[in-house]
Amino acid sequence: MKSEIYEVEQGHYHLTDYDQVCADFDWSEVEKAFSWHTTGRVNMAYECIDRHVDLGKGDKVALYYKDKDHNEKYTFSDMKVNSNKAANVLKKAADVKKGDRVFIFMPRSPELYFVLLGALKIGAIVGPLFEAFMEKAVKDRLENSEASVIITTNSLVDRIPVDELPHLKHIFIVDEDVSADHIDFNALYQEADETFDIEWLEREDGLILHYTSGSTGQPKGVLHVQNAMIQHYISGHYVLDLKEDDIYWCTADPGWVTGTSYGIFAPWLNGATNVIAGGRFSPEGWYQILEDFKVTIWYSAPTAFRMLMGAGDEMIKNYDLSHLRHILSVGEPLNPEVIKWGYKVFGKRIHDTWWMTETGAHMIVNFPSMPIKSGSMGKPLPGVKAAIVDNEGNILPPNRMGNLAMKKGWPSMMRTIWNNEAKYESYFLPSGWYISGDSAYMDEDGYFWFQGRVDDVIMTAGERVGPFEVESKLVEHPAVAEAGVIGKPDPIRGEIIKAFIALREGYEPSDALKEEIRVFVKNGLAAHAAPREIEFKDKLPKTRSGKIMRRVLKAWELDLPTGDLSTMED
Ligand code: ATP
Ligand code: MG
Repeated sequence: MKSEIYEVEQGHYHLTDYDQVCADFDWSEVEKAFSWHTTGRVNMAYECIDRHVDLGKGDKVALYYKDKDHNEKYTFSDMKVNSNKAANVLKKAADVKKGDRVFIFMPRSPELYFVLLGALKIGAIVGPLFEAFMEKAVKDRLENSEASVIITTNSLVDRIPVDELPHLKHIFIVDEDVSADHIDFNALYQEADETFDIEWLEREDGLILHYTSGSTGQPKGVLHVQNAMIQHYISGHYVLDLKEDDIYWCTADPGWVTGTSYGIFAPWLNGATNVIAGGRFSPEGWYQILEDFKVTIWYSAPTAFRMLMGAGDEMIKNYDLSHLRHILSVGEPLNPEVIKWGYKVFGKRIHDTWWMTETGAHMIVNFPSMPIKSGSMGKPLPGVKAAIVDNEGNILPPNRMGNLAMKKGWPSMMRTIWNNEAKYESYFLPSGWYISGDSAYMDEDGYFWFQGRVDDVIMTAGERVGPFEVESKLVEHPAVAEAGVIGKPDPIRGEIIKAFIALREGYEPSDALKEEIRVFVKNGLAAHAAPREIEFKDKLPKTRSGKIMRRVLKAWELDLPTGDLSTMED
């Protein structure tokens, strides 16, 4: 994979001397940013919203919300009042109590955020569901979590098989024309009291239940607790580099962990102005949002950047993106080709960040104050101890591929897999290493390099090949829009590399093109890494959070059962 170095851009960043900050780092110092450091009483919604009002920042804009029906703004004071009202509705009409699982299943809208914060104010554990989930996905999650309350819309409510969910007691509808079987949220909301007595919690009390993306198998219900805010806060400070004047936009839906940890908690814990946009992706729509709100910090995903890249560079000239100062990416490996493109069209580096639903917050990242080696996910967050270990937990020397692991004990670590303690235990080695399931190596400068999911690493003719490397080379080819690479069993070589490729507009599949692409990888990467087989696809199977599902490619190829497809795109 061709890596290039992108030097630090001029600017004043919160994290200046990485090595010094790491050497001095102490999580208990970070806690001092919060009122609960002295009171001992904690509530995420208070720390995100009400605290800023108490500190005299009530008039600052907390939320710009935009979609085809809305173009609204809410100050921190507005957010406080609206979340209080939502809390009162949930408490009065459904008697929601601390620890109850309250699910939210609705398209993005300002109300979604009021309800989520309101549920947190009661001490409920929030379960956000992506609006595109169909009945099976909805049922699995409500059943597994034993949710008692759900807030949804008339158009989605039919996907909730209420007869099969004995724990589900209350269904709130946030539209007009609510049937008698359901509770009319808005009617109660209009009347609701504007003040609310927040439920004060312990730092180990539940916060949010997120189901993983389902890239590798059945989604897991990951429980996070209030304590996670320590890491949300400090990563917002050091990695997002949020400052008083920033306008921040995270494009992720709150149905996925990025959409809450970095779409809600990190920005508001840092008191930033948060832009939230609903509706579907379109390149013009996205550039318009960057321009209209004068977005300064933008957090998105490789799949979105690749789509923008595919839409062409000409259109970018029609927008004023001069306010952008910091761009970040998460969710999948960030191909060097995408960084190169971002640098060309935005004049900015795209900063890759690596973490998982289970880690709750950033773990390995590219800090704005650090040179970027394109293709590398960067270095550990201060306070996080990461290493490459073998299956027994022995630390491997630099440049050796192995398990990407972290020492247990970072603040935002999951606390259980809901209703599956055995699965939770299976993440840890007796020596205290958390095994991520991803394969990586660390270079002599301490940068980490993602190779693929451990199960996706290919053994071909005695060589271990990470799919990411091959995919990144493939997308450098002008005809290739996206690529997914798998190992296919082979009697002689163990496995051969097979690539599935979606072509860019204007290119037609042909044997000549296959050969050209093969030679391109062979010359640019290595002979053993060149795919022996290539298959063109109109599009690749992806999760709704935008990740290529290699297990599905493999299942199709080998005629195996495809497993859980509840999170796959249509
Ligand atoms: P499931 O666990 O259900 O199979 P998933 O692992 O895709 O799904 P998430 O928790 O949403 O669910 O994603 C975390 C995974 O995404 C990581 O383990 C890693 O494989 C991948 N990932 C996230 N960020 C990056 C990144 N910056 N570079 C490479 N891979 C990344
Ligand atoms: Mg996972």
